[in-house]
Amino acid sequence: MPVPFPTVFVSHGAPTLILEDSPGRAFLAGLGARLGAASAVLAVSAHWTTAQPSVSSAERPATVHDFHGFPRALYELRYPAPGAPDLARRTLGLLEAAGLRGSADPDQGLDHGAWVPLMLMYPEADIPVAQVSVQPGRSAADHVALGRALAPLRDEGVLILGSGGAVHNLRAFRPGSTESAPWAHGFARWLDAALTAGDVDAVAHWTERCPEARLAHPTDEHFLPLPVVLGAAGDRPRAERLHDSFEHGSIGMQAYAFRG
Ligand code: ZN
Repeated sequence: MPVPFPTVFVSHGAPTLILEDSPGRAFLAGLGARLGAASAVLAVSAHWTTAQPSVSSAERPATVHDFHGFPRALYELRYPAPGAPDLARRTLGLLEAAGLRGSADPDQGLDHGAWVPLMLMYPEADIPVAQVSVQPGRSAADHVALGRALAPLRDEGVLILGSGGAVHNLRAFRPGSTESAPWAHGFARWLDAALTAGDVDAVAHWTERCPEARLAHPTDEHFLPLPVVLGAAGDRPRAERLHDSFEHGSIGMQAYAFRG
């Protein structure tokens, strides 16, 4: 039996990541080769939020430029990867088997939380992609459960890719700054310790466990892809730190792979 594909959490930073050289960009540009080709990608992005789990089922997903006020070059980029309607169906079946209600969305394209990292990781755009939404009205523990339901996909060579931000407080966004705040480092250290210890419970209850949680994440959506991919790696996930940097001040670009 083939080794299950690892699950991965990446921080996608600012939309301009793809246009500007940075350690975070260079890391993502090498990540696809490091992981190898997946049979398909199931992207869990911070930028698709719904009340109930939703799965994108488009045959040809559009590249969605879901941001405002950025350079024109960014709006001209397209990521023409095929959709993955079969994967979407399979995903919905796994959610249903786990007692989770989900629905297919044939109109959802690829948001920038999905296409920016994927364009760097797999520039040939030849791997089919579907997305799963996150639910900011639900807890991190609920997102661990969502991920657990998706675990069998790893045996089919599917890359379950969480894309959010390890530290994401836009009030602390300082374009080009190389100085990051003590609370940002504090949260990144806490998160690293929890992940490398395989402490799923700490991640599931992160706002109670870490004093810097609400400074690092005033809102939940950029954190929530992480518990999904952690849950998808099983009961005793082994974390590998793939990348560790900050951009624009306190925007954490940390990334991890998980193997169950
Ligand atoms: Zn984002």
